Amino acid sequence: MDELVTTCAAYPLYVLTGYVGILTAADAVAIFAGKKITSQEQLESVVEEEAAKLKLDGKRLLAVYNPRVTAQAHIEGYDTARDVFVPAEQINHKTIVEFKILELGKFRSTRATVRHELYHLARHFGKIRKGLSGKLVYFFYQEPTAILYSLTRIKL
Ligand SMILES: [Zn+2]
Repeated sequence: MDELVTTCAAYPLYVLTGYVGILTAADAVAIFAGKKITSQEQLESVVEEEAAKLKLDGKRLLAVYNPRVTAQAHIEGYDTARDVFVPAEQINHKTIVEFKILELGKFRSTRATVRHELYHLARHFGKIRKGLSGKLVYFFYQEPTAILYSLTRIKL
Protein backbone atom coordinates (compact mmCIF):
# COMPACT_ATOMS: atom_id res chain seq x y z
CA MET A 1 0.00 0.00 0.00
CA ASP A 2 2.77 2.43 0.88
CA GLU A 3 4.38 1.70 -2.45
CA LEU A 4 1.12 2.53 -4.26
CA VAL A 5 0.81 5.84 -2.38
CA THR A 6 4.42 6.71 -3.17
CA THR A 7 3.91 5.85 -6.84
CA CYS A 8 0.70 7.90 -7.07
CA ALA A 9 2.32 10.83 -5.29
CA ALA A 10 5.26 10.75 -7.68
CA TYR A 11 3.09 10.62 -10.82
CA PRO A 12 2.27 14.38 -10.95
CA LEU A 13 5.98 15.08 -10.49
CA TYR A 14 6.81 12.93 -13.53
CA VAL A 15 4.12 14.66 -15.59
CA LEU A 16 5.33 18.11 -14.51
CA THR A 17 8.96 17.21 -15.25
CA GLY A 18 7.94 15.98 -18.70
CA TYR A 19 5.92 19.15 -19.32
CA VAL A 20 8.83 21.42 -18.34
CA GLY A 21 11.16 19.30 -20.49
CA ILE A 22 8.92 19.66 -23.54
CA LEU A 23 8.59 23.43 -23.03
CA THR A 24 12.35 23.83 -22.61
CA ALA A 25 13.10 21.70 -25.68
CA ALA A 26 10.58 23.58 -27.84
CA ASP A 27 12.02 26.92 -26.69
CA ALA A 28 15.56 25.71 -27.43
CA VAL A 29 14.58 24.56 -30.94
CA ALA A 30 13.01 27.96 -31.67
CA ILE A 31 16.09 29.81 -30.42
CA PHE A 32 18.89 27.69 -31.86
CA ALA A 33 17.29 27.14 -35.26
CA GLY A 34 17.25 30.85 -36.00
CA LYS A 35 19.82 33.27 -37.33
CA LYS A 36 21.38 35.49 -34.67
CA ILE A 37 20.63 39.19 -34.48
CA THR A 38 23.93 41.01 -34.12
CA SER A 39 23.13 44.73 -34.10
CA GLN A 40 20.61 47.29 -32.85
CA GLU A 41 19.55 48.11 -36.44
CA GLN A 42 18.91 44.47 -37.23
CA LEU A 43 16.92 44.05 -34.00
CA GLU A 44 14.73 47.09 -34.73
CA SER A 45 14.06 45.80 -38.22
CA VAL A 46 13.05 42.34 -36.91
CA VAL A 47 10.81 43.91 -34.22
CA GLU A 48 9.09 46.05 -36.86
CA GLU A 49 8.49 43.07 -39.17
CA GLU A 50 7.25 40.76 -36.43
CA ALA A 51 5.07 43.43 -34.77
CA ALA A 52 3.37 44.02 -38.12
CA LYS A 53 2.58 40.29 -38.42
CA LEU A 54 0.79 40.48 -35.05
CA LYS A 55 -0.90 43.77 -36.01
CA LEU A 56 0.77 45.17 -32.93
CA ASP A 57 1.64 48.72 -32.10
CA GLY A 58 5.41 48.38 -32.01
CA LYS A 59 5.58 51.56 -29.97
CA ARG A 60 4.76 49.52 -26.86
CA LEU A 61 8.09 47.72 -27.04
CA LEU A 62 11.58 49.09 -26.74
CA ALA A 63 14.08 46.51 -27.93
CA VAL A 64 17.72 46.99 -27.11
CA TYR A 65 20.57 44.89 -28.49
CA ASN A 66 23.03 44.26 -25.68
CA PRO A 67 25.70 41.62 -26.36
CA ARG A 68 26.49 41.42 -22.62
CA VAL A 69 23.09 40.01 -21.61
CA THR A 70 21.20 36.90 -22.70
CA ALA A 71 17.65 38.20 -22.45
CA GLN A 72 16.00 40.50 -19.97
CA ALA A 73 12.53 41.93 -20.11
CA HIS A 74 10.63 44.15 -17.77
CA ILE A 75 7.46 46.17 -17.80
CA GLU A 76 7.12 49.86 -17.19
CA GLY A 77 4.11 52.10 -17.33
CA TYR A 78 3.84 54.54 -20.22
CA ASP A 79 1.72 57.62 -19.64
CA THR A 80 0.25 58.33 -23.09
CA ALA A 81 -1.06 61.76 -22.07
CA ARG A 82 2.24 63.06 -20.72
CA ASP A 83 4.54 60.94 -22.99
CA VAL A 84 6.65 59.71 -20.06
CA PHE A 85 7.50 56.43 -18.36
CA VAL A 86 6.00 55.86 -14.92
CA PRO A 87 6.26 52.96 -12.44
CA ALA A 88 4.42 49.79 -13.53
CA GLU A 89 2.16 50.01 -10.47
CA GLN A 90 0.45 53.02 -12.06
CA ILE A 91 -0.72 51.09 -15.16
CA ASN A 92 -4.47 51.56 -15.58
CA HIS A 93 -4.81 50.22 -19.16
CA LYS A 94 -6.41 53.52 -20.23
CA THR A 95 -4.09 56.51 -20.10
CA ILE A 96 -1.18 54.53 -18.63
CA VAL A 97 -0.40 51.40 -20.64
CA GLU A 98 2.08 48.57 -20.30
CA PHE A 99 5.37 49.12 -22.05
CA LYS A 100 7.85 46.30 -22.41
CA ILE A 101 11.58 46.88 -22.41
CA LEU A 102 13.45 43.96 -23.91
CA GLU A 103 17.20 43.52 -23.95
CA LEU A 104 18.60 40.74 -26.12
CA GLY A 105 22.09 39.43 -26.63
CA LYS A 106 24.21 36.28 -26.72
CA PHE A 107 22.44 33.09 -27.86
CA ARG A 108 18.93 34.45 -27.31
CA SER A 109 19.25 37.29 -29.80
CA THR A 110 17.08 35.65 -32.45
CA ARG A 111 13.89 36.34 -34.37
CA ALA A 112 12.22 33.55 -32.35
CA THR A 113 12.85 35.41 -29.07
CA VAL A 114 11.45 38.62 -30.57
CA ARG A 115 8.38 36.72 -31.81
CA HIS A 116 7.93 35.11 -28.37
CA GLU A 117 8.07 38.45 -26.52
CA LEU A 118 5.84 40.23 -29.03
CA TYR A 119 3.28 37.44 -28.71
CA HIS A 120 3.18 38.00 -24.94
CA LEU A 121 2.76 41.70 -25.63
CA ALA A 122 -0.05 41.18 -28.15
CA ARG A 123 -1.98 38.47 -26.35
CA HIS A 124 -1.18 38.46 -22.66
CA PHE A 125 -0.44 41.97 -21.49
CA GLY A 126 -3.30 43.51 -19.61
CA LYS A 127 -4.29 39.98 -18.60
CA ILE A 128 -1.43 39.34 -16.21
CA ARG A 129 -2.86 38.18 -12.90
CA LYS A 130 -1.17 38.13 -9.56
CA GLY A 131 -0.89 35.25 -7.11
CA LEU A 132 -1.02 31.53 -7.70
CA SER A 133 -3.73 31.66 -10.37
CA GLY A 134 -1.61 34.16 -12.33
CA LYS A 135 1.42 31.87 -12.11
CA LEU A 136 -0.64 28.86 -13.24
CA VAL A 137 -2.11 30.77 -16.20
CA TYR A 138 1.38 31.93 -17.14
CA PHE A 139 2.93 28.47 -16.79
CA PHE A 140 0.20 26.40 -18.43
CA TYR A 141 -1.21 28.83 -21.00
CA GLN A 142 0.74 32.01 -21.70
CA GLU A 143 4.27 30.58 -21.86
CA PRO A 144 3.41 27.48 -23.95
CA THR A 145 1.37 29.54 -26.44
CA ALA A 146 4.21 32.07 -26.79
CA ILE A 147 6.69 29.24 -27.43
CA LEU A 148 4.30 27.65 -29.94
CA TYR A 149 3.94 30.98 -31.75
CA SER A 150 7.71 31.55 -31.81
CA LEU A 151 8.11 28.12 -33.44
CA THR A 152 5.10 27.92 -35.76
CA ARG A 153 3.31 31.33 -35.87
CA ILE A 154 0.15 29.57 -34.70
CA LYS A 155 -1.91 31.97 -32.58
CA LEU A 156 -3.95 30.38 -29.78
ZN1 LIG B 1 7.61 33.88 -22.32
